[in-house]
Amino acid sequence: MITLALSKGRIFDDSLPLLRAAGIEVLDDPEKSRKLILATSRPDLRVVMVRASDVPTYVRHGGADLGVAGLDVLLETDDGLYRPLDLGIARCRMSVATREDFDYAAAVKQGSRIRVATKYTRMARQHFAAKGVHVDLIKLYGSMELAPLTGLADAIVDMVSTGSTLKANHLVEVERIMDITARLVVNPASLKLKREPIRALIDAFEAAVAAAR
Ligand code: ATP
Ligand code: MG
Repeated sequence: MITLALSKGRIFDDSLPLLRAAGIEVLDDPEKSRKLILATSRPDLRVVMVRASDVPTYVRHGGADLGVAGLDVLLETDDGLYRPLDLGIARCRMSVATREDFDYAAAVKQGSRIRVATKYTRMARQHFAAKGVHVDLIKLYGSMELAPLTGLADAIVDMVSTGSTLKANHLVEVERIMDITARLVVNPASLKLKREPIRALIDAFEAAVAAAR
């Protein structure tokens, strides 16, 4: 049996066409069913539904042979999982955003300490250190947009896709940190022990990604 870890929402939705192109149908809808283990049209392949940020943990410890996770999640956990294949799905960018009335460029230029709220403290620390900007990082687990509005922080580092959430909260994107897509990650031991079927699955994903470009 091969186990593929996915997360509800964008990752699952965007993975379906790739799976379909590889001839695989998922036989349950995670939005409708409470099942956490979903059968597929391939008797030797099942899908497990986990939190987006838990995908690397499942794959690392062999709870899943493969998984699909955002580059943000992978960089934030940093555990060198085998051969992340860029699937080109769940596209977004990691950006710095502030209130419309906060002069980010001036704060950076003056060398002020900037209070930054984010779920991505590791990537934020690296980004600001590389720029030589002094920041106080405030770890949050969600609703980052609220931080600048309440005075908790001057800026946030968050994932942006259309920008409509920022706009709805009167925030502006002041800096793009990096482009983000989801990656296929593989457990190294699985790749050794189940070489043939996993290789075939990776090749099928690769072909589906190439065809989608
Ligand atoms: P959770 O919602 O369980 O706290 P999450 O926010 O990381 O976790 P999703 O919202 O499902 O999970 O996002 C999964 C992935 O989709 C992210 O890791 C990121 O790579 C990508 N993504 C694409 N667009 C966005 C966006 N607008 N906001 C957040 N993530 C996005
Ligand atoms: Mg989310």
